[in-house]
Amino acid sequence: MMSVQITCTNCGSSVEVHPDQHAHKVNCEICKHTMDVKFNSEHEQGILKECPVCSRQDFYKQKDFNRVIGVALFVIAAILSIWTYGLSLVALYLVDLFLFRKLAMVAICYKCRTNFRNLSNMSEIRDYDHEMNDRIVYSDHDFKGKPLSH
Ligand SMILES: [Zn+2]
Ligand SMILES: [Zn+2]
Repeated sequence: MMSVQITCTNCGSSVEVHPDQHAHKVNCEICKHTMDVKFNSEHEQGILKECPVCSRQDFYKQKDFNRVIGVALFVIAAILSIWTYGLSLVALYLVDLFLFRKLAMVAICYKCRTNFRNLSNMSEIRDYDHEMNDRIVYSDHDFKGKPLSH
């Protein structure tokens, strides 16, 4: 089932919800702030076409791994490399190659940064595009799900 991780617009906490057509509001457990959501039958099937939070259709996907853990691993490997003559960095590279490449992907809404996991149409979601991001975030451009064209 699709899991949706919404960032509370009031306090910035993560709120995790599952699509439900009958749920129109999501409550932040930390600050009790209420946010509007619009889930449809596609969302319930794990298909992401429209953001249930901001109604935009522009998403990107990336590897779903905890950035903090990744950075911590790199620091440990870098420290160990003093004694292992760099071998630990090679090991980290191999771990990244074999472990992180297999990790699930997460789709993210450009506009409101809501995270979506367990999508059945993840293959349709494109990679992060820096220019699209800038135009959506800074110029409030709406690509309506279409890729950037020049
Ligand atoms: Zn909150
Ligand atoms: Zn959104």
